[in-house]
Order: sequence, then structure tokens, then C-alpha cells
Amino acid sequence: MAMARSVKLRPDATPEGFVRGYVDEPHVNLPLNALGKIDVGGGIGQGMVSVTRFTGLKNPVTGSSEITDGEIADDLTKYLYVSEQTPSSVGLGVLVNQEFQCIGAGGFIIQPLPDATDECIDKLEANLRQVNSVSHMVERGLDAKGIIAELLQGFDIHYMTTTELAFKCQCSKERISEVLLSLGHKDLQSLVNDGHAEVCCHFCNENYQFDGQELQAIFDEAMKRTEV
Ligand SMILES: [Zn+2]
Repeated sequence: MAMARSVKLRPDATPEGFVRGYVDEPHVNLPLNALGKIDVGGGIGQGMVSVTRFTGLKNPVTGSSEITDGEIADDLTKYLYVSEQTPSSVGLGVLVNQEFQCIGAGGFIIQPLPDATDECIDKLEANLRQVNSVSHMVERGLDAKGIIAELLQGFDIHYMTTTELAFKCQCSKERISEVLLSLGHKDLQSLVNDGHAEVCCHFCNENYQFDGQELQAIFDEAMKRTEV
């Protein structure tokens, strides 16, 4: 029986340009697709693209659209159009070596401003039809500015601002302690009884160890908080 499978990707990003993410099921192993490439669409499967923005308002804002083919860039383009009514072009590419290790990755999102002319958009679309895949650009050693120059040939390019991007996790022992604090008394008590706890961050695989003394302190703090 063929089963539709679905792998969840959980990325998050901050305004400072820090990104982190993890895959629910990192060991999916599918044959290469008809083009001889890694079958991302097959691995992602079906489901929804959901984007939650924490904008400082009381409630975060979440938008969603259905996954069409699991090819991440196409589905993000669709999400931006359907959920945010923003016409966009999204391109992504990852290069892997024979051992399936990532040796390079890149991507872009292009969104015309509301006053962009039809002529400008036509020219942009013509450029996008001509350019190589992002993987090829990465392979050729192009950096972000190189990719932009390739995509926007024939345009005047002005950089208003640039931000360095980095994979960085915001986890810390303090944050993990806060998570432990939110456990129920019963669970906390059993951790204290165990005398040791190990918490692994999904995003970066950092391992945090808590000894009996630390667990007792967390337990006491949790008690104090519920008394207030
Ligand atoms: Zn982490």
C-alpha cells in the first residue's frame, strides 16, 4: 500500500537575521526523482505551510496555505501569494556531495513594490526564466550580492541595507530551565527523584544537563511561583 508521508520542517528566524530549524524526521530515505535529484517534494509530502509572525502585538499572526508539491520554494511562493497577497518569486537551492553532505545552500525572495511598472515586472520575469538554478549559482561560488546581480541584470541596484544571516540557536540553560519550570509538579518531582535530567535542543542538538541540586532549585522555584 502506498502511504502519503509527510515530514515537518520547523524553521524560525529573528529580525536580526538568525535562523534555526529542524526536521521532524531527518532520516527519510527516498530514491532520487526523475531528474536525478533529491526528492524534496516526495519527502515533504502533503500538508500545510504555516507562518507565524511575532510582531510584538498581543497575539501572533498565523497565515497558511496548502502544500502543492512539497518543493519548498514553490510552496513559499504560493503561500506569499495566497496568504499574504504578495506576488513573489522564491528560489532555493542546496548542493550535496556524493555522501549527501550539504556543501552549499542559497536562496532568494524577490517582491516588486506596489508601484512597480508592468514593464519592470516583465523584464524581471524574463530574467528569472533565463537564470540558472540557485544550486548552480552557489556552485559557481556566487555570494548573495552575486546572486542578486545575476537575477537583476539590466536593473540599477541600490542596497538600502544589508544583514548578515547566520544559523544560530537562542537556546540556553536559562531558557531550558524555564521550560522545565512549566512542567507539572508531578513531572518535576519525578525529575528531582531521578536526580538527573538531560534536555536536548531540537534545533541545534545542544545537550543540557541538570543535576539533582539544579532540579531541586527548579522544583522550589515552581512551587514558589504557584503560591503567588
Ligand atoms: Zn538550541
